[in-house]
Amino acid sequence: MEKETIALHAGYDQKAGFGTMSVPIFQTTAYDFRDSEHAANLFALKELGPIYTRLTNPTTDVLETRYAELEGGAAAICTASGQAAIFYAIANVAEAGDNIIISDKLYGGSVTLLTHTIKRFGIEARIFKSSDAGNLEGLIDDKTKAIYFESLSNPQIAIADIDTIVEVAKKHGVLTICDNTVATASLFNPIAWGVDIVVHSTSKYTNGQGTAIGGIVVERNGLNEFFKTSSRYSHFNTPDESYHGLVYTDVPLPNFCLRIRLSLLRDIGAAQAPFNSWLLIQGLETLDLRVQKHSDNTLEIAKFLESHPKVKSVNYPGLESHSDYAKAQKYFKDGKASGLLSFDVGSFEEAKNIIDGVKLFSVVVNIGDSKSLIVHPASTTHSQMTAKELLSAGINPATIRLSIGLENTKDLIDDLAKALEL
Ligand SMILES: *Cc1c(COP(=O)(O)O)cnc(C)c1O
Repeated sequence: MEKETIALHAGYDQKAGFGTMSVPIFQTTAYDFRDSEHAANLFALKELGPIYTRLTNPTTDVLETRYAELEGGAAAICTASGQAAIFYAIANVAEAGDNIIISDKLYGGSVTLLTHTIKRFGIEARIFKSSDAGNLEGLIDDKTKAIYFESLSNPQIAIADIDTIVEVAKKHGVLTICDNTVATASLFNPIAWGVDIVVHSTSKYTNGQGTAIGGIVVERNGLNEFFKTSSRYSHFNTPDESYHGLVYTDVPLPNFCLRIRLSLLRDIGAAQAPFNSWLLIQGLETLDLRVQKHSDNTLEIAKFLESHPKVKSVNYPGLESHSDYAKAQKYFKDGKASGLLSFDVGSFEEAKNIIDGVKLFSVVVNIGDSKSLIVHPASTTHSQMTAKELLSAGINPATIRLSIGLENTKDLIDDLAKALEL
């Protein structure tokens, strides 16, 4: 099936359930077992079925099945937030003494999680340049457990050198984990390009209306075979003492998500609420349509800004003048580049005036909403940094970031034009 169809139908057969067109919300903590044998079988994985909503839930199941199919993966697992999805993807492979290699262009929360928080768990993060992955190979050793990057990064709006990253990772048998939040499953499917694991913050474009926080991890087909003989990931093919000696590779279910569910969701428990799964299902149904429109609107606004005398530069990979334009054409559906753009004006003061001058744009540090959002990183998200630190993080004090929504572009351009006159 094609993506638009998958997003509407996969994972739910109304005729098999209660006949409801809308996926029901199973707002329940636990499930009634038929008898003691049924309960024992479920815990021993001899039979599959819901036990407790921290582990599985029928509403969440639908979202997982749908997302796995949309990303062309074998299975998916929902988490309470994008941050939880990223943490589980890493904690599923790395432990104290190991290292991971991370892109130099990542979401702020991922930078603090991967360089500071997991350091306290004894996991070292080594940084590579993801736009041109030439230095990646030199960072890999036998303790390297993952290469982590964003397909289209937030907030830098840069596209990773995906082919090189995958090639180097495969050569060394190291798993690749790609955060595909900004590119979205509509424009880009990392698994089709050889990536092993995909993570999303579903709080953004999947939800689309800023109504729920969520995250998801998707694994590719064939990882079980890879894990069976891998010494780098031997915790998948040797007994797990925490699950009375279970060997994951003996279980004929996609192993990466299985281990997150049986071990990390069980013990750490950042499970997604059924109601949030339902909200995210509503969003997913129109994802494709929205992302096309977000991309088209953003390109139009990028062109307007590029032609404006007060604008020094525009950063949007959908523009032919952008250094990642060729990558957008290569990797993304129809070369569309989603809804984030940034631009530089003359000074910090000018940037602040624009933020204060716009009426339609909301001053919000979110992305992917149907409503347009504007933020001035130097005076908000990055205000704790010195001028020198801002520069080394690639943030100009006169940079403004936009997350373009679904309004009519005439109104958005009109709003920006007036604010630029101020
Ligand atoms: C927002 C975001 C996250 C974190 O997701 P939450 O759902 O807010 O926890 C991770 N990666 C990217 C690229 C994001 O934009």
